[in-house]
Formats: sequence, C-alpha cells, structure tokens
Amino acid sequence: MALIVQKFGGSSVRDYERIMNVARIVGKTYADGNDVAVVVSAQGDTTDDLLEKAAQITQHPNARELDVLLSTGEQISMALLSMALGEMGYPAISLTGWQAGFETNRSYGRARIKNLNTERLQSELDKRRIVIVAGFQGINVNDDITTLGRGGSDTSAVAIAAALNADKCQIYTDVDGIYTADPRIVANAQKLDIISFDEMLELATLGAQVLQNRSVELAKKYGVELEVLSSLDPVKGTIVREVVDMKEGMLIKGVTKDEKVAVITILDVPDVPGISFKVFSLVAQAKVNVDIILQATGRGGNKDIIFTVPAARAEEVCTLLRENLSRFGGREVEYSTDVAKVSVVGAGMQSHSGVASRMFEALYEANINIQMVATSEIKISVIVKKDEADRAVQVVHAAYEEMNGH
Ligand code: ASP
Ligand code: MG
Repeated sequence: MALIVQKFGGSSVRDYERIMNVARIVGKTYADGNDVAVVVSAQGDTTDDLLEKAAQITQHPNARELDVLLSTGEQISMALLSMALGEMGYPAISLTGWQAGFETNRSYGRARIKNLNTERLQSELDKRRIVIVAGFQGINVNDDITTLGRGGSDTSAVAIAAALNADKCQIYTDVDGIYTADPRIVANAQKLDIISFDEMLELATLGAQVLQNRSVELAKKYGVELEVLSSLDPVKGTIVREVVDMKEGMLIKGVTKDEKVAVITILDVPDVPGISFKVFSLVAQAKVNVDIILQATGRGGNKDIIFTVPAARAEEVCTLLRENLSRFGGREVEYSTDVAKVSVVGAGMQSHSGVASRMFEALYEANINIQMVATSEIKISVIVKKDEADRAVQVVHAAYEEMNGH
C-alpha cells in the first residue's frame, strides 16, 4: 500500500462543485488501496478577501491577529472536503495546522516550519482515515497560530510528504503542469514533462505562480519528487525532481515575468570604499531581499547605486535610506515600480554559449530597452519597463524556441 500526499490549491476547491470534484479524486485514490493525506488551500480568493477585511480596519494589522485571520480560510476548505468525503462514504478527518503537528518559528506571515510532529497524522492514517490538513499554517513556541507566506500550502504538502516518507506528492492546481511561459502571455507555450528542482526553484522565485519557492527548496532538500497536475483535466502533469541527465533536456525551461519588483536609485554617493557596505547592511537590517545591484561610476568622483527589491518593500527601504543619507553621503534616493523582471531559466545554459546574447538580440530587435541585467549559472534576468514586459516575454520565448529546436 502506498502513501500519497495530494495538495489542492484555492481554485481547485473554489466552490461546491470543485469540492465535490476534489472529493472524487481523493476518494478514488483511497479506494484504490492507498493511504491518503490531503492538504488544502483556502477557497478561491478567500485569502485576498481576508486581507481586504483587515485592511478596512487598519493599514497596520497586528501580525499575530492577521495570521489568526488568514489561517481560517484553509480551515473552511478542510472541513468542507472532509464532509464531502463523508457523504461519499469515505472515513475522513480534518486537522488544522497545529493539530497536524506543524511547529514553526515566530515570524508571523512568513513562518518557517521547524518541525512536523507526525504522531497524530500517523495515528489517523493507521486507522485508515483520509486525513485532510489545512495548508499554510502552523503554531509557534507560544502556541500562537502562524502562516507560511502566500502559496504556503505547497510547502505544507511537501513537509508532510517528506516527514511521512510518502510515495507520491501530487500538487493539484488549475493548470495541468509547468509551462515554458505563462500561456496567457505566450499562446504556444509548452508543457514540460520534467524539470529539475534547481530550475523549478528559479522559476518559482522569478514569478512563475505554480509552486511556492520554499516548497521546491524543501522538496529538493528531502528528495521529494513532485507531480504538478490539474484537478480538472486528468492528463499527465509535470514531474519536478533531481535531474541527472541534462543531455536530453531542452536548453531553456521557462521564461518568466515578475512585476512585483521596484528599482531603487541612490544618486551621487561618493566613490570611496565602504559605501555599498553601509547601504546594504542597512537594507539587510530591514530584512529586505536585494536582488540585482548595479553601481555606475562617473561624474566627478561620485557614483549611483541602483538595485532592485520587492515592490511591496520599496517605500519602506527608500524612507530608511533617506533617513540615513548622511551616513553614506548620497544626494537623493528615488524608486520606480514601473518595471518588471523578465527571466529565462535553464540548466542547459551552463554548457551552451550564446544564451544571453540571444536574449539581448531578441529584445533589441523588439526595441525593448534593458535597464539592468543579472545572471546566475542557470538564469538570466533583465529589468525592463513594465508595459513592455509581456512583449519581452513573447520575443524572448520565441527566440529560445528556435534554440531549443522547435
Ligand atoms: N491561501 C494561501 C494563499 O492564498 C495559501 C495557499 O493558497 O497556498 O496564499
Ligand atoms: Mg491561494
């Protein structure tokens, strides 16, 4: 008998029909003789709606209370799915994050799982019950509810699969796999049969909406093979796993767009040692992730420091830098959110030359200006104007399709 973990995203449990659909998938898996642990997200846009409710009351909600609020979405889904399975004659039981043993650190809103105490999960499975777990949540040392960050139910599912040494971890969503680009932007984007953890991690971090990047990190760490598939269309999905043989694979696995970035510019700081250290240690203290950094020297011994941060943190970082301007002697700090990051990802670029130049050529031919560039072993990212981002994804995707040999 196999143990299968199945995770269903918000759109998969959106309403009555979808809950019943999920119950049929889960019920069938159980009836085939498997043990089944299910992780559910909040229904549809519930989490956004809850955030909106909080925002009506305050722009600065108490972090603990916000997590109490947000965790309720998943609790609705788990109870409804358990009832649906019960109606169909299956023995099911729902568990909140803390009931299921999720122990996290203290960071409300973006907590990390420290430990999963599987006692309860295991004892329910031993009774041949289908266990439905509320995703995205846990409990900290103070017994307070925490949430795992947007998209965190994926991570809950992978954690369960890792801790119980599951035979399969299926991530059900409303698309039938991982595509080479968002099909809403690139009509002929292709579904991948397989993608490596490293490539998936980059894609997830660079704006692909399918998996939370932490879930991929965790899956890689514990060697949990994932299958991303559709709850609505019973076709083969995409496998995410450690890929050893790169020869067969496509050069480029995906082109992504992330509009939630901002570019911050500090103008005219002195061109002397220690300035970058002062600037970025300040930003680090605020726990903001800096991505691309550019330093342009010039003009009379001064330079500009330009870098990207998540758009949601731009205002805060700017204020912090302005308050401390005298410490590193800049003239002014400004930021722009009228930008997007377009990236290409593929492990094959390690052994192929010309990948970056092909990207730049495609953008040049489309008359799209590149503001910043960053590369790693398996990705290239450029910053472009927001309203040119979709077109950038399209032309870059087309260029690599040629390279991939389609
Ligand atoms: N409901 C949460 C969110 O919308 C967690 C999840 O869906 O994974 O981000
Ligand atoms: Mg969701």
